[in-house]
Amino acid sequence: MVSYKELGLVNTREMFAKAIKGGYAIPAFNFNNMEQLQAIIKASAETKSPVILQVSKGARNYANQTLLRYMAQGAVEYAKELGWEHPQICLHLDHGDSFELCKSCVDFGFSSVMIDASHLPYEENIALTKKVVDYAHQYDVTVEAELGVLAGVEDEVSSAVSHYTKPEEVVDFATRTGCDSLAISIGTSHGAYKFTPEQCTRDPKTGKLVPPPLAFDVLDAIMEQLPGFPIVLHGSSSVPQEYVDMINSTGGKLPDAVGIPEEQLRKAAKSAVCKINIDSDSRLAFTAAVRKVFAEKPGEFDPRKYCGPARDLMEELYKHKIINVLGSNGKAE
Ligand SMILES: [Zn+2]
Repeated sequence: MVSYKELGLVNTREMFAKAIKGGYAIPAFNFNNMEQLQAIIKASAETKSPVILQVSKGARNYANQTLLRYMAQGAVEYAKELGWEHPQICLHLDHGDSFELCKSCVDFGFSSVMIDASHLPYEENIALTKKVVDYAHQYDVTVEAELGVLAGVEDEVSSAVSHYTKPEEVVDFATRTGCDSLAISIGTSHGAYKFTPEQCTRDPKTGKLVPPPLAFDVLDAIMEQLPGFPIVLHGSSSVPQEYVDMINSTGGKLPDAVGIPEEQLRKAAKSAVCKINIDSDSRLAFTAAVRKVFAEKPGEFDPRKYCGPARDLMEELYKHKIINVLGSNGKAE
C-alpha cells in the first residue's frame, strides 16, 4: 500500500472546490510516454496551473502501471525543479471499469479514480460506484463517476450513440453513491471523429465541418439539481484544424476529423464544469510534429529529433488550453 500523499500528489477535492468558485476548469491530460508527461508538467509548471494526469486502461497496457506511477512521482520532483514551489498534481485513473482495478490504483498511489459504470443499468451503476467510493474514501482518494453515455471511441471505451445524462437522476445518484464528481453526457464525444458529417453543417467559406452545439440546457438543468457539485466533461478535444492539416499535408489521412469548438469549452469551464478531459488533441499534435520532421528530413532516424519537436508542440498545445480555454493558469502558485 502506497499513499499518494507520500508521493507529493493531491486529490481533486480542493482543486474542484476552488475551480467552481473561481469559474475555471482543471485540465485533465492523458499520458502514455515520457515526452507527453514532460510537456504536461512543463506547461503546468510554467503557467502554475493545477493539473490532472490521467492514466487510461490503454495507457496501463501500453506503458505499464508501475512505470506510470513512478513517472508521476518523478513528475512532482521535476515540477519543483522547474521552479514550481507547490505543484498541484493529481494522478487519476481514467475510465476504471471494475472495483478491482480502482482498488489496485488506490493501493498503488493514485490520488483519484474514475469508476465508469455508465454502460450498466442505473441501479448497478450506483452499486458499483458506491463500492468504489466506500473503499477509496478510506484513503482520501476522490472518485469520479459517470451518468449518461458518450459516443465515440477512447481506448477500450466505445459506444456508437450517446445518451444525454438525465438531470432528474443526478441528485439520487450523487447522494446514494457519495461520488466526488460526476462525468456527464451533453454532446461531447471521445476520439478525433466526434461527429459524422451528417451531424454537422459545413462552413460555406472553408468547407470545414461545423459540429452541433453542446447541450447547455442539459448542463444547466444538472447544475440546478446539484448546485456547486463538480461536473466533468470527457471527450473534449477540439481537434485543431492546423494539426489535422499538418497531418494531411504530410501524407496522413484524417478526413473530416472534428472536435468541440474551444468557445464552447470556455463557456463550460466558467460553470460547474471543473474538469475537462483532453487527449486526442495531444495525439494530433504529436503526430503532426513527427510527420513534419519526416516530410522535411527523410534521413532522420534519431527519435530525439522527432520526439523533441513533438514534445514542444504538445507543450504549446497544453499551455494554450490552460491559458486560453480552461483559465486555470496562476491557480496553483
Ligand atoms: Zn473519457
